[in-house]
Amino acid sequence: MSLESSKPVVLLRDYRAPAWCVTDVELEFDLDPAATIVAARLVVERDPAQPGAALRLDAEQIELLEVRVDGEALAEDRYLLGADALTIPLAGDRAVVETRVRIVPETNTALQGLYASGSADSRFLLTQCEAEGFRRITPFLDRPDVLARYVVTLRADKARFPLLLANGNADGAGDLADGRHWARFVDPHPKPSYLFALVGGRLESIEDAFVTAEGRRVRLFIHAEADAIGRCGWAMQCLKLAMRWDEQRFGRCYDLDVFHIVATHDFTMGAMENKGLNVFNAKYLLADPEQATDDAYRHVLAVVGHEYFHNWSGNRVTCRDWFQLSLKEGLTVYREQEFESDLASRTLRRIEDVRVLWRAQFSEDAGPLAHPVRPDRYSEINNFYTATVYEKGAEIVRMLASVLGRDGFRRGLDRYFERHDGHAATVEDFLGALGDANGVDLTPWLAWYGQAGTPVLDAEAHYDARTRQFELTLAQHTAPTPGQPRKQALPIPVAVALFDADGGRMPLHLDGEAAAGAPERVLTLAADRATFRFVGVASRPVVSLLRGYSAPVRLRRSVEADDLVVQIRHDDDGFNRWFAADALARQLFADALAQGAPAARPLGLWTRSLAETVGDAALDPALVAEMLTLADANSLAETLAEVDPEAVYRARAQVETALAQALVAPLLARYRALSDDDVGDAVDTAAQARRRLRNACLAALCRADAAHLSLAEAQFERARNLTDRLGALSVLLSAQAPGASAALDAFAARHAGDMLVLDQWLSVQATQALPETVERVVALTAHEAFRWANPNNVYALLGAFALRNPRAFHRADGAGYRLVGEAVARVDALTPQVAARLATALGGWRRLEPVRRALMRRELERLAAREGLSPDLSDILARSLAG
Ligand SMILES: [Zn+2]
Repeated sequence: MSLESSKPVVLLRDYRAPAWCVTDVELEFDLDPAATIVAARLVVERDPAQPGAALRLDAEQIELLEVRVDGEALAEDRYLLGADALTIPLAGDRAVVETRVRIVPETNTALQGLYASGSADSRFLLTQCEAEGFRRITPFLDRPDVLARYVVTLRADKARFPLLLANGNADGAGDLADGRHWARFVDPHPKPSYLFALVGGRLESIEDAFVTAEGRRVRLFIHAEADAIGRCGWAMQCLKLAMRWDEQRFGRCYDLDVFHIVATHDFTMGAMENKGLNVFNAKYLLADPEQATDDAYRHVLAVVGHEYFHNWSGNRVTCRDWFQLSLKEGLTVYREQEFESDLASRTLRRIEDVRVLWRAQFSEDAGPLAHPVRPDRYSEINNFYTATVYEKGAEIVRMLASVLGRDGFRRGLDRYFERHDGHAATVEDFLGALGDANGVDLTPWLAWYGQAGTPVLDAEAHYDARTRQFELTLAQHTAPTPGQPRKQALPIPVAVALFDADGGRMPLHLDGEAAAGAPERVLTLAADRATFRFVGVASRPVVSLLRGYSAPVRLRRSVEADDLVVQIRHDDDGFNRWFAADALARQLFADALAQGAPAARPLGLWTRSLAETVGDAALDPALVAEMLTLADANSLAETLAEVDPEAVYRARAQVETALAQALVAPLLARYRALSDDDVGDAVDTAAQARRRLRNACLAALCRADAAHLSLAEAQFERARNLTDRLGALSVLLSAQAPGASAALDAFAARHAGDMLVLDQWLSVQATQALPETVERVVALTAHEAFRWANPNNVYALLGAFALRNPRAFHRADGAGYRLVGEAVARVDALTPQVAARLATALGGWRRLEPVRRALMRRELERLAAREGLSPDLSDILARSLAG
């Protein structure tokens, strides 16, 4: 069947510079949730190369009250107001265009443009404009290559809206008649409209200060509702860490006198980098030991850093068009990864990023929604805030950084920021600046941006004891993706080291070189296939390949379990140590799936090496915890031609249980040692790592034997932080322990009224791999902690169920698909962006076994047949069903 998306397709190759640009903007808001009046004064200039073109301003869902050109009010026949634009024919090359419109924030459940948030007695107004929300506020050239200077005046009732904020520096404030007041803001840096923000309402604040390396004193504020402001201290620390780090690592200083962050519970994304006025989903801002997990602490650090780093990679240098989205997002995700890696554990962050890449991006690449990091077409840009654009985009930047070296990459980035400051750039500009600063041609890397799909890297090793030569043959292949039947070879950097059988490093001497090079080196595979020959290799080496995960490829090689064990024991790259354990676990999983049980010898090797690891007090406990945590079912199933989710679940559970049962003694010893030395509510990296391992040990112990459930009950009772309490609760639920239900109730009662913690409570129930979880989730949609209009609630309950609980989601009778299909339809009427995201869970139908394939497809078709779907959802459904 074919379903037409309701928005026209936009093509990268059709890009044209705007016929008109806006140089200066003055905005005046009379804020009122029921009817806000927006007056805009735009100075517009024509592109001399495009004479005759009318001025076309994007405009959606606004009531137009007045249009003036150069001071003269226009009669209705002098302009055209359509469903998505206000078009004004203009004779000259320059004009002052003024509009006055009315908008209604309180009914805006799409959460794009100006909308209301907060509890019933303290509603506040805020904006979200990326990608195309500004056109819901005022008619404008709402595209990222139109950069203008903004002066914004806000007026509102002083009692209801004591706090008024917009981008830039404060430029006066005062009282008005009738209990109203005003405030003005000037942003000296030209910016695109998607970075516009305002906030008005009754919020509490904390304040701090930062002096930049250039000597600028910056006032820092975080604003949140009264019950949340006490949990913003960690975010303020993170902000100062981020400001200092960007100066030291990349030489980037902040450029305004003030920096504001505002928290909201009603947000479709994680956070938004509006110039000088970041808006955050509360989930990524609030943290204290009682109400936030260790993961939440780390997410706050990462997201506060991410949004701050956008001030250069995104705001000072922005994107020419939305096809270039990864230019700001991939680069900023990379900067965020480096920030957390420098401040906390590099290995742990790398493992987590690779897990996300495998789970979210590789599966995207393998399905109907596959697209390049720089897409060449879209109909709804909101649907391209994807793992491919963000995570794979960051991987490309990481590869470039490794190829250019730390200093070379810094030089290149400096060139990029200097050359394009105050402008809108492209991927070509980025590669050009990096290449010019280093005297290299990076053009071949464009293919990484333009080609969809996950490259498979085949590696073959051959050792000749007689000649003491070792050959490594690398070959690449990328399967076709929608719209891209033929693929080209990509430059793939492959970091390599060799170890002997005892784990000692071996020299790397490439044939033809005068002497051995560094003990670790990066080989670049630039063609379909290449062989690298090393000489003077004393014995058959164990190859540590793709160290640090040096390229986002699927590595395929036949490797002996014994070699992987050498790596698990000795590899000095923490990531590859984990990577070897993961590879061995995947072999065992494949055995279990094909033959009903993992093969005995490799299982024995694996469990013995992990038993040593669990007992090794010198290793980072977080790394040990990661080595004990198997890849999730979706990631394990990724290479299968046809997926039976129940069989995948059983094979994975078999491997997991076999490990747990073989390791009871060392797990118990480590669990007790970590519990005796309880670090309580400390939240430093070391304390977090210990808790991570303790909870991994607890989960494995309870899987091995229900007798250990008493440990989980005791931990639940005594926990002094949310991580330990939630970890124990999850274990009790998975084991269907007798006390599980009481623990759930106790947890809900303890955290009543706390939306973020109750989201965790919803998620821990939605992710239980039990068939009856479907009915549990249905029941929870009626719980008072759940609101359909709140994106965090929807993601916590339904998103967790659809994306992180493959066993229940894929229940054989199709009840999981029904549940998600119904939820998508219901959410689409409120928040289309969230509905579209949830609907991507239904995109993987083609790879399922026949019964589920038909059921999931039917659910997609049922959704597609509904009337009045949003453009966001229509686009996802059309692409999921296409072909
Ligand atoms: Zn971002």
